[in-house]
Amino acid sequence: MKSVDYPSDSSAIAVRIERILEGTPRIRLHAAWPDHEGFDAQLPTWRPGRYELGQFAQFMYRMEGQTPEGNWVELTKTDLHRWRVPKGIRSLRWEFYADLFNAGSTGVDSDILYVNPVNCFLYDPQKMHLGYDIELTDVPETWDVACGLERNGRHLIAADVQQAMDCPILAAESLTHQSFTSHEIEFHIWIYGRNQPDAERFLKEHRAFTDAQIAHFGSFPASEYHFMYLLPEREVRHGVEHENSTVIALGPSEKSQTEDGHMELIGIASHELYHVWNVKRIRPTEWMPYDFSKACPSRMGYVAEGVTTYMGDLFLFESGIVDLQGWCALTVRLLNRHINNAGRLNLSVADSSFDTWLDGYVAGVPGRKGSIYVEGAVLALLCDVRIMQLTGGEASLQTAMRLLWEQFGEPRIGLTESDYWSVLNEVAGAPEALDDLRREFADGTEDSWDSLVAAMDWQGLQLSKELREGMWYCQLEPK
Ligand SMILES: [Zn+2]
Repeated sequence: MKSVDYPSDSSAIAVRIERILEGTPRIRLHAAWPDHEGFDAQLPTWRPGRYELGQFAQFMYRMEGQTPEGNWVELTKTDLHRWRVPKGIRSLRWEFYADLFNAGSTGVDSDILYVNPVNCFLYDPQKMHLGYDIELTDVPETWDVACGLERNGRHLIAADVQQAMDCPILAAESLTHQSFTSHEIEFHIWIYGRNQPDAERFLKEHRAFTDAQIAHFGSFPASEYHFMYLLPEREVRHGVEHENSTVIALGPSEKSQTEDGHMELIGIASHELYHVWNVKRIRPTEWMPYDFSKACPSRMGYVAEGVTTYMGDLFLFESGIVDLQGWCALTVRLLNRHINNAGRLNLSVADSSFDTWLDGYVAGVPGRKGSIYVEGAVLALLCDVRIMQLTGGEASLQTAMRLLWEQFGEPRIGLTESDYWSVLNEVAGAPEALDDLRREFADGTEDSWDSLVAAMDWQGLQLSKELREGMWYCQLEPK
């Protein structure tokens, strides 16, 4: 078997990816390391965007290294996601399960190669500066390739481990491609799927929320951006954020033909774009930089996901994609989940953030925990209204997020809880302006209902709830 050509650039790992379509879908990866002094080959244990262990080694079929004599030998594990590569070996090959089509997975078929390097690429934890030269070996020249990485023919170039792990690759026989410019940044929309949303409306709405978000932050963190849509024929609803791209999966693809499905896509897209600032740059210090080798709990998931959930929806309203009634409907959906979750009264959203690594993405045992998305968004709403109240509408939570972008995100300084709350207080104009909200609803487990009713009332909205068959249902409407 032909071995991998050694990279000419000594600071890059040369990776070749090819599809195996017979039997269980898999990919075969070959990697040639620039040195052969012996090292540990580490597979990430989690992926940014999902703050729990991904256990990706469960998808690994075999791991082999090539001896100086040219023989392939099996490598020995030193940990669940780590293999020892003895001195003299610098070419590795492995096979990885590739039949998952969510927004953070790896999947192949006769017409598609979809790879999230963060679940199937190896790295040397001692050499995080090494880049990757990725060759899509069996992708025909005629296929479309969507990726945030620099491209050179069939090669994709990543500057270092952090960048490679943050750039999903979507190559397919056919991808619908549209592009637009916002604030002088080039945006691309790529869609894979049998059924696709209305192209003209889709483009117009992407432009609208993108224009609005950039205007409110004052600048955009990347030089280009890719919205990558995966609309498979399987049941899926999922989005994952990256530094200069996002993957959004919705299936079966016919959902994109319905109004609800269309708005799901746009809602997720606005959320994921907001992440370019909030979490990809304005990032909890525990995730700066990402350590893929172990769990990295943070109490700030409610900032990462809660603020983004609230703002993603608010920008749909801000940019005219939904009207006030539409925003109320989105908010009622969140509030219904909020008031029916007894877990928020047991474990604070900050503690629930820390614990996403245990049970953050499953229902969990009844009444134990809050959701960083739902409870986090409700807290963001309360903070937003408080800042507007104290500043007579001159400032808002978005003003604080812009300041956080300028002071922490842009210079890439990790954010702590006290940094976050002091910037919010500063924008609200008093050192303790939001301390009660933090105490009661971020670090504490107080019931938020009365505060929510008052906050909505201040905005000219009437919030009420009724109990039907053991479930609470909210109503929110202009007064
Ligand atoms: Zn998110």
